[in-house]
Amino acid sequence: MSNNISNINKSNYTPQTTKDTHIQYIKGVGPARSKILERLDIKVLNDLLFYFPWRYEDRKSLKKINELSYGHIETTMCEVLSTEIVTTPRKRMKIFEITASDKTGFLKSKWFNQPYLARYFKKGQKVILSGAVKGNPYAGAGLEMENPDFELVGEEDRFIHTSRIVPVYKATEGISPKQIRTLMFNAVSNYLFLIEDYIPEEVLKRHALKPLDWAVKEMHFPEEVADVNMLNNGSSPAHRRLAFDEFFLLELGLALLKKGEVLEQGISFKTDNCLVNKFLNSLPFQLTKAQHRVLAEIMADLQRPLPMNRLIHGDVGCGKTVIALVSMLVAVENGYQSCLMAPTELLAEQHFINIHKMIETLGLRIVLLTSSSKGKPVDDISEGNAQIIIGTHALIQEQVKFKKLGLAIIDEQHKFGVVQRANIRRKGFNPDILIMTATPIPRTLALTLYGDLDISIIDELPSGRKPIITKMFFPAQKDRIHSLIKEELTKGRQVYIVYPLIEESEKLDLKSAIDGAEALRKIYPERRVGLVHGKMHRNDREAVMTQFKSGEIDILVATTVIEVGIDVPNASLMLIVHAERFGLAQLHQLRGRIGRGGYDSYCLLMAYPTFSEEAKRRLKAMEATSDGFRIAEEDLAIRGPGDFFGTRQSGIPDLKIANIIRDIKELETARKEAFDLIEAEPGLNRYPLLKENLQKKWRGRLELIKS
Ligand code: ADP
Ligand code: MG
Repeated sequence: MSNNISNINKSNYTPQTTKDTHIQYIKGVGPARSKILERLDIKVLNDLLFYFPWRYEDRKSLKKINELSYGHIETTMCEVLSTEIVTTPRKRMKIFEITASDKTGFLKSKWFNQPYLARYFKKGQKVILSGAVKGNPYAGAGLEMENPDFELVGEEDRFIHTSRIVPVYKATEGISPKQIRTLMFNAVSNYLFLIEDYIPEEVLKRHALKPLDWAVKEMHFPEEVADVNMLNNGSSPAHRRLAFDEFFLLELGLALLKKGEVLEQGISFKTDNCLVNKFLNSLPFQLTKAQHRVLAEIMADLQRPLPMNRLIHGDVGCGKTVIALVSMLVAVENGYQSCLMAPTELLAEQHFINIHKMIETLGLRIVLLTSSSKGKPVDDISEGNAQIIIGTHALIQEQVKFKKLGLAIIDEQHKFGVVQRANIRRKGFNPDILIMTATPIPRTLALTLYGDLDISIIDELPSGRKPIITKMFFPAQKDRIHSLIKEELTKGRQVYIVYPLIEESEKLDLKSAIDGAEALRKIYPERRVGLVHGKMHRNDREAVMTQFKSGEIDILVATTVIEVGIDVPNASLMLIVHAERFGLAQLHQLRGRIGRGGYDSYCLLMAYPTFSEEAKRRLKAMEATSDGFRIAEEDLAIRGPGDFFGTRQSGIPDLKIANIIRDIKELETARKEAFDLIEAEPGLNRYPLLKENLQKKWRGRLELIKS
């Protein structure tokens, strides 16, 4: 049987066809289909060629009918004996049936609502059928397939859908996986030659990587010798090549970013100043060893006449904010402004309140800027009256002009990305940038993923923290939950109750925070119950938070707005309602709000049955550990890397084939090669094709190559 795509059939090739030709001009597509394909993000020929199957079926071995086994997907070649169109009396559905045979037995096949198939299946026609084998209940022990894929033998000597390892594509309404397969066969047969290798030859040689056109062909229509398991788990030579490409382009971009920044002139701050010492002495605690080490790393960066690009990485509650604040003081004492950008309004407000309090005695001018602030703060920033500016991404709006920005701190990096970083950089003259993240990822991964950053890790929690006891509860155990809450309140502690949504949503049937607060007021008439959520007016929200902090509120009902940055050491219990609906990282972040005051603390996860296996794994992981790194690993295992890193959000190119965990070796190789190449040839002038692909991959999100 021939798999001969290499016998390129150029009959459909028109000289003007390029990789960028719109798919509607490709044979078998047309205007209507091209609309459908656009839903799959396929717009031009190149998109089609790079639209890879999500799995493969081995239909290589043709079995005799008496060798077919029930319940398996099997492929057989046989001859049509008879055909029939049956109309079901009730639903008036048309079923097209054939009976086929080889020397060993009979096989029935039926297709629903496709009477036109009668055109293809004539008596005596040789046919290959591939599908799940079922017993035919109406014909004794007979065999049957429903909607099998088929190929007529002899009509055209091409075996697209059977008798090979067959690619299975994700389809969409209006086009079937099989139709895509046919289209793809044409595209690959006719246009494979348009694919050009853009990775430097030496690199390919060094790592024994296959040619790109071969890899693309192999992804769609694998050679006979291909291993179907390797194809399905993404470890085939074709996958390896394509994964390498993705990583290489990612790392090239990061290398260029880093290089570009290193070449820029930055600010050299003096760090031997008294403001910092004064501040550190005013703290009611000593810095941990890890904090000291990280602070020293930052100080060294601040002194250097190059822009700092550092990531502080550390679990919730390890004390990143204090470190950030110290760096801000350095900038301020050197006569520069310094800003802190947080991912949510509430968090910005909290930072503002906390920092304001911490530096009150230092007499510094500090402002808050969110999308709801008007006039004054913006002027204070541009006139230089504000020395420390706390805000949300409102800080990177067009109209916000800094007088003299020297240091920008970005909190919770996972909510921002490369692009925001670039935007904030433009607000000053190459200010130093410090990013704080609590998303714990393994160091090698952090290095490769945030490859343009230097990394500092705070791997120690302040002493006196007690481990948090986490336990799952069902709604039927409400009494137990309330007795635990009462116990804490009696001890003088405070409590968080977290709900997933703020209004009752019919669709999701979630308990709302608003109703929850009502109910709690009835259950705890003698306690003060507060409510915060994202849709409240800022002043109201701030007032509630301040009351909670000062102990005027005992029970704070909240949505996930409290996920990050809120710091109320007296709160020792958190109840998360509908915990099964939250992601693992989110649960961990939420839990990080308690256990900050040296009291025994409790995190109660109330889960409503029935929930998925995945949800169960998440809740079990929460019960098992409060170590952020272990949580992250589990999260990664449950969700898969694409989702985990949210590349779309972060502004780095998507990884379609590559898997950061599975392909970590490729990632490291690609990183080394990319950084070496940029070192040797930052302009990539000898590699125009590579440059073009790089620009495309980063979709103009960065001005990577200036020349
Ligand atoms: P992160 O931002 O890393 O989650 P924070 O900076 O908000 O953590 O710190 C959490 C709490 O721990 C704050 O109340 C902070 O004042 C306190 N803290 C920070 N460093 C120390 C330390 N070395 N010893 C004791 N408490 C500390
Ligand atoms: Mg924080």
